[in-house]
Amino acid sequence: MKTANDTARLANTVLTVDKKARDAKAARAKDAAGKVKCPKCGKDATGAAFCPKCGAKIEKTCPGCGKTDATGAAFCPKCGTKMD
Ligand SMILES: [Zn+2]
Ligand SMILES: [Zn+2]
Repeated sequence: MKTANDTARLANTVLTVDKKARDAKAARAKDAAGKVKCPKCGKDATGAAFCPKCGAKIEKTCPGCGKTDATGAAFCPKCGTKMD
């Protein structure tokens, strides 16, 4: 038979697991943010002007003003639009 204490402990365990799952999700989202991938081979080329693997030119085009940017910035340095 379950006691009130057991129920409380179980609820606490569930909350802890839930928090861990959220933390892991946040860490993954942070990891993916600001990465620039080579459009040709998919290699991570964050901050590079050319892909370190295949040499393709790495640049993003601002959807707001059309400025190209190869620094991996999350936002356009010219108009502030979020870069893809
Ligand atoms: Zn490449
Ligand atoms: Zn822009």
